[in-house]
Amino acid sequence: MSEQRVVVVTGASRGIGRAIAVEMAAPNTHVVINYNSNPESAEQTASLVQSRGATSSAMQFNVADPDAVKAAFDRIIDAHGHIDVLVNNAGIARDNLLAIMKPAEWDDVMATNLKGAFLCSQAVIRPMMRRRFGRIVNVTSVVAATGNPGQCNYSAAKAGIIGLTKSLAREIVSRKITVNAVAPGYIETDMTAALPPKAREALLAQIPAGRPGAPEEVAAAVAFLASDAAGYITGQVIHVNGGMFMG
Ligand code: NAP
Repeated sequence: MSEQRVVVVTGASRGIGRAIAVEMAAPNTHVVINYNSNPESAEQTASLVQSRGATSSAMQFNVADPDAVKAAFDRIIDAHGHIDVLVNNAGIARDNLLAIMKPAEWDDVMATNLKGAFLCSQAVIRPMMRRRFGRIVNVTSVVAATGNPGQCNYSAAKAGIIGLTKSLAREIVSRKITVNAVAPGYIETDMTAALPPKAREALLAQIPAGRPGAPEEVAAAVAFLASDAAGYITGQVIHVNGGMFMG
């Protein structure tokens, strides 16, 4: 049997991350399901992943904590020997108008959404370089391209993810490692359920497809970028948004 494919998905206890973990699940694959605060949800993701013939492990760590990230990835490498795919999906929103945004709202969003992707990418990069293979897929957002009132922190972090994606892609393309991003539009998850009804209506009105997206529709794009077939695609951003923004 060929070597097991090892996939790490951050923020996989719920929403888009869960759909990505499930989409990547297949026989001869191990999926590491990272979460922060929700062990029960992470275990539900693990059951779904296993029902598709993969093995899985749920691992709690805060992607913004350098020591926790290093310890977690050291454990993954010790257990499995290598990591083929990293999906930097973990994210939070702390929406507020800039005039009244608290420094902590800025810092928390930057730490989880941007620093987290940096730390996890750094943790996999040497093992991937040694193996001369790897796929990193970062989850950004349509608002990185369009902006959104109330989301100066979030859109700046997500735009930062795109810069990180392109620079790292250039650094490691010669090692057969690709780095790409997927930019979801309005996807139905806990994150968007928290929006006030008026904000949701305003978002829906901007979507030519006339409906929100499903997490599985984002997961399909991530899985393609993580596949062997996508080996010549790097430094790109795929928008999954029902026509809301066309780059
Ligand atoms: P969600 O339903 O709120 O789930 C967020 C996930 O991130 C959870 O699994 C959560 O873990 C995890 N997480 C949060 N902080 C973390 C931390 N410090 N360390 C590790 N994990 C952490 O969000 P979602 O809608 O699925 O969003 C997933 C990604 O897509 C995010 O990057 C988001 O910005 C992006 N996105 C979403 C939309 C949308 O419309 N939903 C649009 C564009 C982009 P716990 O459950 O343990 O807390």
